[in-house]
Amino acid sequence: MALPCPLYRVFDYRLAQPGRIAPGSRVRVPFGRRNLVGVVVELSPDTELPPAQIRPLSELLDAQPVVPPDLLALLRWAAGYYHHPIGEVLAQALPALLRQGRPARIEQTRHWQLSAAGRAVDPADLARAPRQAALLSVLARCPEGADRDRLQREGLYRRDSLRALVDKGWVEERLETPGLDTPGAGAAAPSLNPAQADAVQAVAEHAGFGCFLLDGVTGSGKTEVYIRAIEQALAAGRQTLLLVPEIGLTPQLMQRLRARLAAPMVILHSGLSERERLNAWVAARDGAARIVVGTRSAVFTPLPAPGLFIVDEEHDPSLKQQDGFRYSARDLLIWRARQQDVPVLLGSATPSLESLYNADQGRYQRLHLPNRAGAASAPELKLLDIRGQPLREGLAEPLLGAMRRHLARGEQVLLFLNRRGFAPTLICHECGWVATCRRCDSHLTLHQRRGRLHCHHCDASQEVPVQCPECGSPDLRGLGYGTERIEQTLQQLFPDHPCLRIDRDSTRRKGQLEALLEQAHSGAARILLGTQMLAKGHHFPGVTLVGILEADQRLFSSDFRASERLAQLIVQVAGRAGRAERPGTVLIQTHHPDHPLLRRLVTEGYAAFAAAALAERRDTGLPPYASLALLRAEATDREAPREFLEQAHALALQQSGPEIEFWGPVPAPMEKRAGRYRAQLLVQSAARAALHRLLDAWIPVLAESPAARRIRWSVDVDPVDT
Ligand code: ADP
Ligand code: ZN
Ligand code: ZN
Repeated sequence: MALPCPLYRVFDYRLAQPGRIAPGSRVRVPFGRRNLVGVVVELSPDTELPPAQIRPLSELLDAQPVVPPDLLALLRWAAGYYHHPIGEVLAQALPALLRQGRPARIEQTRHWQLSAAGRAVDPADLARAPRQAALLSVLARCPEGADRDRLQREGLYRRDSLRALVDKGWVEERLETPGLDTPGAGAAAPSLNPAQADAVQAVAEHAGFGCFLLDGVTGSGKTEVYIRAIEQALAAGRQTLLLVPEIGLTPQLMQRLRARLAAPMVILHSGLSERERLNAWVAARDGAARIVVGTRSAVFTPLPAPGLFIVDEEHDPSLKQQDGFRYSARDLLIWRARQQDVPVLLGSATPSLESLYNADQGRYQRLHLPNRAGAASAPELKLLDIRGQPLREGLAEPLLGAMRRHLARGEQVLLFLNRRGFAPTLICHECGWVATCRRCDSHLTLHQRRGRLHCHHCDASQEVPVQCPECGSPDLRGLGYGTERIEQTLQQLFPDHPCLRIDRDSTRRKGQLEALLEQAHSGAARILLGTQMLAKGHHFPGVTLVGILEADQRLFSSDFRASERLAQLIVQVAGRAGRAERPGTVLIQTHHPDHPLLRRLVTEGYAAFAAAALAERRDTGLPPYASLALLRAEATDREAPREFLEQAHALALQQSGPEIEFWGPVPAPMEKRAGRYRAQLLVQSAARAALHRLLDAWIPVLAESPAARRIRWSVDVDPVDT
């Protein structure tokens, strides 16, 4: 029995009526003084415990197992591979309502929405009914209405207040089945170009498991290939599971899927209410949903008739969970595809070095879309040498000149800077004092508009001081620039060209991103400025010039993946330009125009860059030519993590052979974060099997050691940030 607790073991309980329970069913069991919901992972006639110590389980919750056998196999394999407690793995995989023991069935929920009359009411006029006033204000922010979950999150769910508002005719109440999308309409399909047709055919002709790497430049029509492949799966009576890095960033993809695919679809992402999530999950499990689109954790959706798996933007690091159960959704989906004998399609304009390597090795079949679909041509990349150049808030004159020319022609410009806020540092001009985070080894970012200093690592926030806490000088200045500052500069330099900023700060509220994207598409905004939120997946036909304000920081990072990420980011941002008939230009500001990586990327393209980067990884023995695991530890006390890792290291040395290398323990790249000191021990081997043999022997023993109970630690298998 797996229970939701951080222990690397399962628990034995007695069955009242043997044979009536199947693995994958939920049961309620006594655990200490509490009652927990657990999942049966195995039935066994015997146990290592003396019979008197085995307690009977309290209640069987499912007549049918809630975790079907294939999914249970995936979860057990994942728990073993990533060395994470099976109870927590199961808890991650199940919707919260199932973890709480609620029945696995679709339920309707009440929704409340402002009526036309309600929209005309000013909540301030309801001073005598503050709860009703508060409800009206919240509902005014939810155009599609709100359910009980949502109102409870705001602390505002009151049945009587809602009833009063309904009686007044200000609020409408209706029953909904959240989570289920109605089938879409049949929008016109373009005829495929030969490369697309070949790709679709390769997948169609393939029976059973196979892994395809759909390597297509931005705008080459990868989405069209997905849609055709999904249509084939639908025609064969099979379900499709499509993973995307972040749903919020891909409203266009969702719109296209809905417009083209006339089949019931569910979308699983973090913005759902728990009821929506459970309904969607049940619809998938029962086969009612034929298409399941979701972020990372959707890889655990049960499907009775899987026929096609897709990972969009397979290179994206957010497909790997970065805390708790650190799994790679892409890698798990590939495992699942093999187990369920289903083809899996990995799509990207900038494939990960891992996937390119697997394709080179013949493990994946490569499908190439070398050209943009339709009339669009590829953008031209140029390095802009800014050494010794005057800069206006980080913008060099040649870039400003190009902006003027493109804007004068009525075209749009996109500027990319992966740093939000006004300035990354606040410094005292008198004495050099710098505002730092008390809980992290980092500077506080100045957010001028809100008048606050923010730590982007622990989320701490404070008011901007009026004077220097060291010397009392009022001359505090923002050093460096973020999107907020560039926006201000652009408004001064280009007063006639509306500028739109897209970053986490400008899109915090629901619907804001969609509204901003709408202005970008309609052409109302002439200059688009943003962080990597703007780099992904969007399609801006009017943009003909892209400026990348800063590429240099990542050229000299200690993370061996930094150059891969930089190249991916540049190519993805560049891909926003010239998507329609007019060709696009991309200017990359840099102090290192001779850097071999940048040069190769600009002159020969991503494939050539990737080949060179892979050769470098081979020579240095780094992934994909080696496998890694990272043991992390953290504590409020500086020495404890290191001491723990040293003990762990000593323990590992007893069990490992010469094919394993250890690096560390060393402090983490940002040692102090959110008030805790962090250290890490990297374990590396050219032989994946040897690394896993060590982990299998080492981690369970480590987990049982007294030291491990006193500290927060974790193991990250195949880490993506080292
Ligand atoms: P990707 O996903 O590779 O970035 P998309 O599928 O978004 O590319 O396609 C880019 C644009 O080209 C979209 O506007 C799409 O409608 C269009 N497109 C895709 N395939 C074709 C085709 N065969 N003929 C004409 N236009 C196409
Ligand atoms: Zn000072
Ligand atoms: Zn902090």
